[in-house]
Amino acid sequence: MPDRLVVPFGGNAAPAHWLGKAHLGGKGANLCEMAAIGLPVPPGFVIPTPVCARYHEAGGRLPEALLAKLPEGLAHIEAAVGARFGDPANPLLVSVRSGARVSMPGMMDTVLNLGLNRETVEGLARRSGNRRFAYDSFRRFIQMYADVVLGLDHYLFEDALELMKDDRGVTLDTALTEADLEALVGQYLEIVAKERGEPFPMDPMAQLEGAVAAVFGSWRSERATVYRRLNDIPEEWGTAVTVQAMIFGNMGETSATGVAFTRDPATGERAIYGEYLVNAQGEDVVAGIRTPQYLTKAARERAGAAGASMEETMPEVFKELSQVFTLLERHYRDMQDIEFTVQEGRLFILQTRSGKRTARAALRIACDMVAEGLIGEDEAVRRVDPAVLDQLLHPTLDPKAERQVIATGLPASPGAASGAIVLDSAEAERRAGLGETVILVRVETSPEDIAGMHAARGILTARGGMTSHAAVVARGMGRPCVSGAGGIAIDPETRTVRAGSHVLKEGDIITLDGATGEVMLGEVPTIEPELSGDFATLMAWADRHRRLKVRANAETPADCRVARQFGAEGIGLARTEHMFFDPDRIGLVRAMILAADEAARAPILARLLPLQRADFAEMFAVMAGLPVTIRLLDPPLHEFLPQREADYAEVAEASGVSVAGLKRRVAELHEMNPMLGHRGCRLGVTYPDIYAMQTRAILEAALQQADPPVPEIMIPLVATRRELDLMKAVVDETAEAVFAEAGRRIPYLVGTMIELPRAALVADSIAETAEFFSFGTNDLTQTTLGISRDDAARFLATYVEKGIYPKDPFVTLDVDGVGQLVRLAVERGRGARPDLKLGICGEHGGDPASIRFVAGLGLDYVSCSPWRVPIARLAAAQAALAD
Ligand code: ADP
Ligand code: MG
Ligand code: MG
Repeated sequence: MPDRLVVPFGGNAAPAHWLGKAHLGGKGANLCEMAAIGLPVPPGFVIPTPVCARYHEAGGRLPEALLAKLPEGLAHIEAAVGARFGDPANPLLVSVRSGARVSMPGMMDTVLNLGLNRETVEGLARRSGNRRFAYDSFRRFIQMYADVVLGLDHYLFEDALELMKDDRGVTLDTALTEADLEALVGQYLEIVAKERGEPFPMDPMAQLEGAVAAVFGSWRSERATVYRRLNDIPEEWGTAVTVQAMIFGNMGETSATGVAFTRDPATGERAIYGEYLVNAQGEDVVAGIRTPQYLTKAARERAGAAGASMEETMPEVFKELSQVFTLLERHYRDMQDIEFTVQEGRLFILQTRSGKRTARAALRIACDMVAEGLIGEDEAVRRVDPAVLDQLLHPTLDPKAERQVIATGLPASPGAASGAIVLDSAEAERRAGLGETVILVRVETSPEDIAGMHAARGILTARGGMTSHAAVVARGMGRPCVSGAGGIAIDPETRTVRAGSHVLKEGDIITLDGATGEVMLGEVPTIEPELSGDFATLMAWADRHRRLKVRANAETPADCRVARQFGAEGIGLARTEHMFFDPDRIGLVRAMILAADEAARAPILARLLPLQRADFAEMFAVMAGLPVTIRLLDPPLHEFLPQREADYAEVAEASGVSVAGLKRRVAELHEMNPMLGHRGCRLGVTYPDIYAMQTRAILEAALQQADPPVPEIMIPLVATRRELDLMKAVVDETAEAVFAEAGRRIPYLVGTMIELPRAALVADSIAETAEFFSFGTNDLTQTTLGISRDDAARFLATYVEKGIYPKDPFVTLDVDGVGQLVRLAVERGRGARPDLKLGICGEHGGDPASIRFVAGLGLDYVSCSPWRVPIARLAAAQAALAD
């Protein structure tokens, strides 16, 4: 009966939680459910979420039909508690609470003690025999109602309260007397009348209607709208309203209110974690007016806190509370976050929901609950959000350490790092070479900075977004990065960095937190990631379920080692140009690019060959027989061109030509649009000798191995089968020569990256030559959308905000567009070659949503940054469990 306008719970109401959270809101559904399983929940009723839309459609008016039903809802509560709403002799008071399908800050605050006026307050005083309590409730009600329903400034009331306390010479609200509170109520009513030009509404029914309307109205408040947009919550959902009998935690020393987690939300430890306040109402615990006390004796002792724990002051209630916790955990099979109130020694539960927790706690709770038999292994795997693992895979700042934040930017790459400021790549390498830990600080980074970024512990840029060069490369390398810190200014003349009022010199120590975007002065201690224990256990369970293999994008031996430690089953993308940027050989690489012809290039390639071979040999040794995909030279040539006079001199010397001649050659090589220019296999087509040298280096290195890998040689940026045919011929010819020299052969594969729309469209013909495809979704996104990743920062945020793309398409695969090309290429490719090996190696290879999509397409593996390998393993397992 989803058209019911009020859904009662508690008392003698029939169970209603089966109507679900979408209909009743999370809070409402759980209240109905707790009542149904016999927990002490104050009776009440829920006005379901669809009524919210009706309220707004009617231009902000409660539907007549609802107004007609409210008395019925109230009658249910009245019968259950034996009091009457608005009855001066025996008044029922209620709370009015909001609650959407998912917990949502920004919604209206709860109004407590609703139904009080000058007559009912006296009735409450008589019935309770506690006039002080009655007026305490009244003053609370007036302030809350005025604030959240009438929109008056709460400071007006807090000021009056402070004045009253000053005047009486007390500091705590609880020290005010009955007479003080009665006087305060008088003042409050005057404030409302004066500010509003109308008296405070004294009719309980008018109060109720006002509060319900305010809850629905708050669904469209600016705060709520912003929150919804940031969290992809649809406007249509609406909020429910819960009206519930009041329980009074402010009736004296045997009454209290509190909040608790059934396990420690920071560590996951199985121990009650929470706080309570004697003689108080709900919001007092979090308001910080009085210091709350611990629930358990152990927690109080550990903290060395003065106030007695609930376990000590109310042992009976505490025992009952612990039993409720056990019951709730068994029922919901998850850690719960609970709100409760005690009225004169009687316990009531006011809310429960799955508790938010840190990544560490999420792992521990999932593993413990399997051990306790509450959930199965596959449920544990499903429970942990892969994205939160990121918190655990990098060093983090010690939460207990002091920090002085001097600037803030974007949280571009997670992890924390401290080190000496260096302002360029050369200085980064110099100091790192001397054993110093450094932070590279740049306006923005370019491929020139790769070596410096590698040498640095962390990277800070003044400009650039989440997909800037610095951000993408730092994430790939696992270096913490804060990008776009607009508050810093770098002065290359004096070699200083200004951040607010601080002027820092090169060599001064700073700390970055790439998870928050904060930049701090000096060294803040960090904690190393812990990958054993629960983490290892959960990963082992995940590995049992997944079908996708997980590889890493890496080329340095250090990164390959990290990849293996995190469980990578091969390398999906080794970018040979990253090896070329090494400062020892960038000069040679430049000479290679700038050589006038093949004859001039030959001696240079001969010098590069042993260097590349050594690179590959080291990599293969670390990967010990696992598959390794190596992409031949790919990037636009301009990335290698000399920048400074000193670079020209160095290249001139290496290649034996004049600086003037070199400059002419650089001018010749200038491109208008390098990303669409002379790069990828176009380099191999025009300079086949470069690809031949790289192939030789790969195969000779493989032949040296005791446990040789099957090298997968990958040709980048192919658009046509003919390009691939030509390049495959170069590879095969070179391989034959190498094998003939060695006197033995090893298997190898030749395949291509699919990173141009044309390649996806003609995938069937390309697959006749290619033995594998690897989807290079960074470039495929760039070329399909026609958006340059390096320039997207300026407008992409606006695009996402306006809903043009639901997510940053460079982070989460654009399933509707780019995804269709991937699907097409998979179908056509496998149609032509059924055993075609398929993988993905863009940034998307480490993004859980994108992994879910490609798992559905039947890819063989995903490849991502070494630091995201565990995230991909878990996401792949969840994808498998979902179908
Ligand atoms: P929020 O969504 O902000 O947590 P709630 O609706 O849960 O708002 O209300 C906040 C607090 O108000 C509760 O934790 C509880 O302490 C108190 N409260 C709400 N309803 C009642 C009630 N019927 N009786 C006593 N206290 C209540
Ligand atoms: Mg609450
Ligand atoms: Mg590419």
